[in-house]
Amino acid sequence: MPPVFRFAPSPNGYLHLGHALSALLNAGMAAASGGRLLLRIEDIDTTRCRPEYEAAIDEDLAWLGLAWEKPVRRQSEHFDDYRAALGRLDAMGLVYPSFESRAEIAALVTARDSQASWPRDQDGAPLYPGTAKTMPPAERARLMVSRAPYALRLDMTAALARVGALTWLETGAGPAGETGAIAADPARWGDVILARKDTPTSYHLAVVVDDAAQGVTDVVRGQDLFHATSVHRLLQALLGLTAPRYHHHRLVRDADGHKLSKSTRATGLRELRAQGLTPTDIRRRLGLD
Ligand code: GLU
Repeated sequence: MPPVFRFAPSPNGYLHLGHALSALLNAGMAAASGGRLLLRIEDIDTTRCRPEYEAAIDEDLAWLGLAWEKPVRRQSEHFDDYRAALGRLDAMGLVYPSFESRAEIAALVTARDSQASWPRDQDGAPLYPGTAKTMPPAERARLMVSRAPYALRLDMTAALARVGALTWLETGAGPAGETGAIAADPARWGDVILARKDTPTSYHLAVVVDDAAQGVTDVVRGQDLFHATSVHRLLQALLGLTAPRYHHHRLVRDADGHKLSKSTRATGLRELRAQGLTPTDIRRRLGLD
C-alpha cells in the first residue's frame, strides 16, 4: 500500500509561505515515496471559513505546481462522523459539558491559585479546572436545554486511566529537536474541548477521525502542532484508530521572527504572485532548492 499524505488547510484566509512550505513538503515526500497526496479542507468553523478562500486554496496550490486527489474531503460535510466518534467517547463516560466562558474560567483559576502557577496549555490558556465535572445531573440537564452555550470536554483523568503509555514516531522534529519515538503527554492539555453546543467537533477530534477515515499514513505539518499530537494519540487510542507517522516541520517566520498569520499580507502567496514571483522563487525563498 502506498503511503498517504495530506495537506489540511482551513479556508479562513489566504495561504502564505508557511502553508506553501507544508504543502510542498507533503508533495515532495509523497513523490519521493510513491505515495498519494490528499487535500483536506478543515472548515468546521463555519463562521470564519468561506468558499472564496477554498477556491483561492485550489488556485494557489495549482499555481505552485501541486496535484492532489479528488474528491477533496471537506470537514463540514462529515459532521455525522464526528458526532459518532463523540458518541463513542461519551458512551465510555469520558465526556462532560462545561458552561463557563473563557473569562469565567480565568476567574475560577485566579480564585484557586495565583494565575502564574496554575498549569496552562501550550497556547497559554489556563487548563480547565474541571469545575463542571461534579455538577449535579439535574442542573447539567437544565443548562443543556437552556440557551446557555457549552463546550463538551474530555475527562482527561478518566481517559488516561483507560489507555497505557502512548508514543508516536516523529520523523521530523519538535520545537526542542525531539525526534524518533516520542512519549505522548496529553495531560498537559487538561480536559480538552471535543465539541461545542453548535459544532459537533473540535479540531482535535476531527483531525483524528479524518486521518483514520482517509487512511493517512504520514502527517506532515508545522511544529506548532507538535504538542497537539499528544491529544491526537490519546483520541486514537480511545477510538481504536491506527496512528500515522508524524513529521513536524520548521515554521516560516516573518522578519521579526513571528509565526506567519493569514493577515500578514507581505507573505501571502497571492501578493507574492502579484509582485511577479514564480513558484521557483517561492521554493528558493523557502530553502527548498
Ligand atoms: N488545519 C490545520 C491548520 O491549518 C492543520 C491541521 C493538521 O495538519 O493537522 O493549521
